[in-house]
Amino acid sequence: MPTIKEELDRRRLLYSLLMPVMNLYVPGLERGKGLYFLFVKSETRTPGGLLARPVLTSYYKSDHFKTRPYDPYNVYTSPNEAILCPDSFQSMYAQMLCGLLQRQQVLRVGAVFASGLLRAIRFLQLNWPQLTQDIETGALNPKLTDPSLREYMDKILKPNPELAECVRHECSKDNWEGIIARIWQNTKYLDVIVTGAMAQYIPTLDYYSGGLPLACTMYASSECYFGLNLNPMCKPSQVSYTIMPNMAYFEFLPHEPDSFGFPRASPPKLVDLVDVEVGKEYELVITTYAGLYRYRVGDILRVTGFHNSAPQFHFVRRKNVLLSIDSDKTDEAELQKAVENASRLLREFNTSVVEYTSYADTRTIPGHYVIYWELLGKESANSPTDEVLKQCCLAMEESLNSVYRQGRVADNSIGPLEIRVVKNGTFEELMDYAISRGASINQYKVPRCVNFTPIMELLDSRVVSSHFSPASPHWTPERRR
Ligand code: AMP
Repeated sequence: MPTIKEELDRRRLLYSLLMPVMNLYVPGLERGKGLYFLFVKSETRTPGGLLARPVLTSYYKSDHFKTRPYDPYNVYTSPNEAILCPDSFQSMYAQMLCGLLQRQQVLRVGAVFASGLLRAIRFLQLNWPQLTQDIETGALNPKLTDPSLREYMDKILKPNPELAECVRHECSKDNWEGIIARIWQNTKYLDVIVTGAMAQYIPTLDYYSGGLPLACTMYASSECYFGLNLNPMCKPSQVSYTIMPNMAYFEFLPHEPDSFGFPRASPPKLVDLVDVEVGKEYELVITTYAGLYRYRVGDILRVTGFHNSAPQFHFVRRKNVLLSIDSDKTDEAELQKAVENASRLLREFNTSVVEYTSYADTRTIPGHYVIYWELLGKESANSPTDEVLKQCCLAMEESLNSVYRQGRVADNSIGPLEIRVVKNGTFEELMDYAISRGASINQYKVPRCVNFTPIMELLDSRVVSSHFSPASPHWTPERRR
């Protein structure tokens, strides 16, 4: 996405409004700190030599963030040295350690997306013995080698056996329900986005937080920051974002299928921000200061009301995205291509994939893609082995986009892809089920992604074998030629 320097001012403007709004609902936040897990990712250059990096990386590395003036409402437990450390293990370790050391001061816990916060909890599960040892002895884990990070940590880390014992006491229990509220007892809410694709994480967050309120404060993208939630303590299902008209020029493509459920023959006219109607759904179209012209972001929004004259939108869904675990977004065409590439490995076994569907499994941390395959083998004596199906998993991962592979390789935010082979006839049963619930036989299409519990149960009860990707796919910060 193209961007320009002054865009940083617009982003800062939006960020600067979040705490004044929150302060209306949760007083006293200036008397404590926020434990936020924030990370930078690797950078690359375009063929023309321009720097390319994720939008948040560019914000955290900018002076707007690094040399921000002191603001009692925006004090974080994580130092810049930890947030800006390019090594994700060292960065997370230091941020967690700082959060534990200052646990009494922590009033809110957050990350950008829900998946990031759950990754931090998983990290604590895996690393609490070492973290508590560091706190007990006052000596930093030797795996933290980044010089500026070490220098900072050495200054603040002092032996504190009492705190170490307290953290150890909580973490060593088998039951981690409510762990966030137990360790950070003064936490008033979790600051994470759980609208849209991230809603899948709400039950897990509720489990680990003991039901703390979830605040979705803002709505933004790499292309442009859009707006904020003026009622951040409302339930996730009730969240509406108020678009800030000064962030870009906003237009809306009506997204109503006609009364027969078919898409319209000709595309409907664009509607201006002032002309959207309550209850209607639109696709967001932006013209940005950085040069995108009538660009379709891919988000479908529904108008829920107005704040003064500014319309407010419920995030309905992202168009064409089937699977998402973290910041990855996999669409139908990408999934189809991945299945095609992987199924080539089955040719020598005279086997083909007759049907497939997928599921974003977030019951484990990190979550992973599950692809259900129904296979047709022509020679039963020569069916693909576990090893071959594992290679199919890897071949699918190799075909997926670089954000997916980066999540797998560099960030560990996505677990190995899984193929579940189902019995012959399973997809026919799936169709029967859909038809019994009112789907039209003529128009039935296999859903390429599923998450409805009865369908999942049906699929899972027909699984004959399951196979995981045996290795990491290829990924480097450089673009593929
Ligand atoms: P990216 O450019 O990768 O950061 O992704 C931006 C996209 O993430 C947006 O276009 C939305 O689809 C999604 N997104 C960002 N913020 C929110 C939010 N508050 N609620 C739901 N989805 C969001």
